[in-house]
Amino acid sequence: MDFTLPKKFEGLRQMISFLGRDRLRPLGLEADQMGHALSRDHPFFTEVLEMGLTGGFAGKMGSPRADDDGRVRKTVRRAVVMAEEAAYWDRGMATSLPGPGLGGAPIMMMGTPEQKERFLNPFKEKDRPRWAGFGMTEPGAGSDVARIQTRISFQGDEIVVSGQKCFISNGARAEFITVWGTEDPALGRAGHRAVIVPQDTPGFSVVGVEHKMGLNASETATLSFEDCRVPMANLLTPRGASGEGFKGAMKTLNMTRPIVAGMAVGIGRAAYDECSRFANENFTGPSAWRAGRVADRLARIRRKLDMARLLAWKSAWEADHKLPNQLSAAIAKATAAPLALEATSLGIEILGLAGGASDHLIEKLYRDVKALDIVEGTGQIQRVIIARQLIGYTDERGKNQGESHG
Ligand SMILES: Cc1cc2nc3c(=O)[nH]c(=O)nc-3n(C[C@H](O)[C@H](O)[C@H](O)COP(=O)(O)OP(=O)(O)OC[C@H]3O[C@@H](n4cnc5c(N)ncnc54)[C@H](O)[C@@H]3O)c2cc1C
Repeated sequence: MDFTLPKKFEGLRQMISFLGRDRLRPLGLEADQMGHALSRDHPFFTEVLEMGLTGGFAGKMGSPRADDDGRVRKTVRRAVVMAEEAAYWDRGMATSLPGPGLGGAPIMMMGTPEQKERFLNPFKEKDRPRWAGFGMTEPGAGSDVARIQTRISFQGDEIVVSGQKCFISNGARAEFITVWGTEDPALGRAGHRAVIVPQDTPGFSVVGVEHKMGLNASETATLSFEDCRVPMANLLTPRGASGEGFKGAMKTLNMTRPIVAGMAVGIGRAAYDECSRFANENFTGPSAWRAGRVADRLARIRRKLDMARLLAWKSAWEADHKLPNQLSAAIAKATAAPLALEATSLGIEILGLAGGASDHLIEKLYRDVKALDIVEGTGQIQRVIIARQLIGYTDERGKNQGESHG
């Protein structure tokens, strides 16, 4: 594995860094103060389109253009690097950038050329910002995806989708949602199918947008599908193919979990930098005695963050080389998210009163970071996957647990 970044990666990372300092961080703070995401017609989203920073570069799988160019390989590593940089400045803003993001990832991985053309190619256009959503979680089915109740039935040439999804990132502004449903809930994961539902489909509605403790720049929505009819050409997983829908969801998450780990490292690095700056500025003169102890704690965090980054890169490298990476993706995510939480928590402690004040960045980072241990499979679920892969552990509820989405 080569640790050097190709020149074009480095150029893009620097571009994100400039964008981050000038726009992502200030706009993320603004959204946090407002308590909700920027509106979809905010000029910033047009600005990033004009800069060519579309396609979910910081979010997930790289742009669809990369797919067309035959550069599908090595996109996960690139996405991990860019995700870390964008999350360093503001993770909520990083996920809200226009692009297909997680909603486009299953199409990129499982879609036909016609589906890629129809659903992903429009993201190359610069006429207006576009988003997509990944609709798996339901009020009664988060970790245990075998319990999803959204029904997918087939009537003539049409697919009918009925159900409710919650916590869907960019869901209220998405062009389409990749909806995970079941042909028959009694079949568990064997009955799962994925269907692309455009937002203008009759029966689709946004029930509401959640209020979260952090990541306010990233909108998460509850969505309702009432007898939504879409053409058979929108089916992502073959009809009757047992378990294909579930496998497709897991494959997608094996690609995206290293990216979430990269984002966690980005937030952890931001906390580390804030602490270092504070310590340098404040632990001098009569407070100098504190500097040594704080330096030791900061160094420990720095070592751990470097380790988490390497785990994310290794998993991405495996994905890019088409090697099985389920275990490494779970290890990377299970390691990086708690470490980033530890880094922000240390920041609050070291900054003392300043750290607890609601107008300090470290306080926002502390609220933002927790979600990374929840999204795309909670920390517990990652540990179940690791235990199962390493020692063949299964919990008492059997196979439907542990490989869950999140
Ligand atoms: C900011 C944010 C964005 C999100 N975006 C999306 C999105 O775009 N699309 C989408 O589909 N979903 C999304 N989600 C939903 C997210 O994936 C779920 O919250 C997650 O899967 C956990 O599900 P749950 O909240 O229902 O918790 P539950 O599954 O109810 O879990 C509750 C607790 O029990 C633990 N637990 C559950 N099962 C086990 C087990 N077998 N062993 C040990 N512990 C267990 C969990 O780890 C957790 O601590 C998002 C969530 C957040 C917070």
